[in-house]
Amino acid sequence: MRFKYIRTNIVKFILSYFILIISFIFISYKFFLDDFIYLEKMQNLNNVNSLLHDIDGNLKNISGTTHDYSQWDDTYTFAQDKNKNYIYENFRDGTATLEGINIDAMLYLDIENRVFFSKYRNSFLESNKKDFEKYISSNLKNKNVVDTIINYKSKFLYLSKSEILKSDFTGKPKGYLISVKLSENKDFLINYSLFDEIKISTHDSIQNNLEINLAFLKNVKIQTYYENDMIINHINFYNFDGEYLISLISKNNSNIVLKGKKTILLFNLLISLILFLVFFYIYKSQYLIENQNSLLNEEVANRTKLLNMAYDKLKSKNNELFTLANIDSLTKIRNRRSYFIKSEELLSKAIKFNHNLHVLLIDLDHFKTINDTYGHNVGDKVLISFCNIVSSIIDKKIVFGRIGGEEFSLTFYNKTDEEVTKISEEIRDTCSNAEIKIDNKVVKFTVSMGLTSREDFDNIDKILHNSDNLLYQAKKSGRNKLIRTNR
Ligand code: GH3
Ligand code: MG
Ligand code: MG
Repeated sequence: MRFKYIRTNIVKFILSYFILIISFIFISYKFFLDDFIYLEKMQNLNNVNSLLHDIDGNLKNISGTTHDYSQWDDTYTFAQDKNKNYIYENFRDGTATLEGINIDAMLYLDIENRVFFSKYRNSFLESNKKDFEKYISSNLKNKNVVDTIINYKSKFLYLSKSEILKSDFTGKPKGYLISVKLSENKDFLINYSLFDEIKISTHDSIQNNLEINLAFLKNVKIQTYYENDMIINHINFYNFDGEYLISLISKNNSNIVLKGKKTILLFNLLISLILFLVFFYIYKSQYLIENQNSLLNEEVANRTKLLNMAYDKLKSKNNELFTLANIDSLTKIRNRRSYFIKSEELLSKAIKFNHNLHVLLIDLDHFKTINDTYGHNVGDKVLISFCNIVSSIIDKKIVFGRIGGEEFSLTFYNKTDEEVTKISEEIRDTCSNAEIKIDNKVVKFTVSMGLTSREDFDNIDKILHNSDNLLYQAKKSGRNKLIRTNR
């Protein structure tokens, strides 16, 4: 029982511990992880911003270079009379013009947007020269000055177009100068390392959720989302007419969130450990208290048992004492003391309520002879038999006691003279007819009686004394008789 109680307690403890821990983990993830996600998003936004500023910076560089070249008087002269000297000066083999200004292709267009001279430093563009130039002339003919990125055969290109003008800006434009730079060059992105991976995509799949415009870079739309612990940005670029050009897809491990998760895990482990220790301590204290309690209970139960045993003993001793004080040891009826107490009580009651009260004194006739003839033992048994006869005749309300050796008395409460006389005569008659068999002997006996009613007396002694006188008369007049007060 005790073992079972302790076991259910352990189960309760373990259950509440785990419920608390799970709730704590749930709450900590719910509240703290959002903060880490927010930090990650801010960090990612900074990274994207840096990336876009790089691209914008690249556009600025190519734009500056193009504008410088397009406003050289030599360039103007070249556009006007196509003099070979300009080409010789700037683009003959061995000169490092394109390398020097970090440009992959330079295209010279006349005022009709037809390419009249081009120089390449990139094999991809050069191998697609014809197609590329056609693409450029047709796509950019409506724009005289533009700095943009373009998508050519899924390549990310920077492009700057400028009008060829005199250095003092006099006269009309003689044509256009276009500079192109491929994003594949090593200086594509200074901040490339901010991301684990950057891919070029030509698929306009995202719904915009953030739009950015920089000095050169216009119409950039960004969507950010999480996938398998990666933070992914779709960066879409659109041209000046809002048409989709190309996308960059950047992927980064969501390090802040991952580190955040680790921190939260560590925090939860620590809390779990602390809570475990607290729970363990509480459990152990409770266990000790329960143990002490059950020991105490056992002790109390033992003491109670001993007390009960002592009480039972006392009770039986008390009963014994009561019996000794009130019951006659031979006949088991009231002794003299008890008979007098009870009879006095009834007499007071009878006086108070003016009820009848009769006292019948009985003495066994020639009892000494019985003793002498059969022995004291047989005499004892005759006394017992006599008591049995009386008890079988009277009801329990009649007080019956042994007041001397072979002298007995009965007190009748609230009975008529006739009733009392009838009972007395029945006793006398039954005794005289009784044959008591003891050790194959048959013993017979008679009784003499004196009966007094209370009218003239105020105590039991006096009534009994009167009954004794009557009894004496019964003896004298032949025994086996009832003599009662004359009325
Ligand atoms: P009577 O008819 O005049 O009363 O004669 P009796 O012999 O009965 O009266 P007596 O007073 O001479 O004798 C009473 C006897 O009862 C004397 C006594 O030994 C005997 N007796 C008293 N108490 C006991 C008892 O407890 N057991 C036995 N066996 N005898 C007892
Ligand atoms: Mg006597
Ligand atoms: Mg007698």
